[in-house]
Amino acid sequence: MTPKYIISSCLVGVKCRYNATCSSTVNLEKMIETGEAIPVCPEVIAGLSTPREPVELQQTDNGIKVTSKQGNEYTQQFLNAADEVLKICKENNITDAILQARSPSCGFGKIYDGTFSGKLIEGNGVVADKLFKNGVNVVTDEEFKSEK
Ligand code: SF4
Repeated sequence: MTPKYIISSCLVGVKCRYNATCSSTVNLEKMIETGEAIPVCPEVIAGLSTPREPVELQQTDNGIKVTSKQGNEYTQQFLNAADEVLKICKENNITDAILQARSPSCGFGKIYDGTFSGKLIEGNGVVADKLFKNGVNVVTDEEFKSEK
């Protein structure tokens, strides 16, 4: 089957979240097995290790800033990863993405506000935003499952 989707790797059994866990679901794993989807983890593509310190995305006057609670900045790695994931989509004619909700990379519609307080705001993760602005249909795993 020709792939139509990319899916966040952590949704299909890869333990690539910051705390080295995944949140996989059987339904999405089947899409990888059939070849309907390709798994992608932008933060692994960015060269970050697993486990790694959690980060959040902040909106600034100059754009965005991705930092950990300790103040380490990862903005450029995230921007590079977004370019790479878009390239993967273009090379494979991917039209749709199913991405992990609320992640600073993959979240779509709602993300944490950058204060590490658990507060959600309207916004997109860096990769989700890049894909969406380049014509890829993006949904979160939660939206995709509720549509099924
Ligand atoms: S949410 Fe995205 S960046 Fe984070 S672990 Fe899952 S695939 Fe990787």
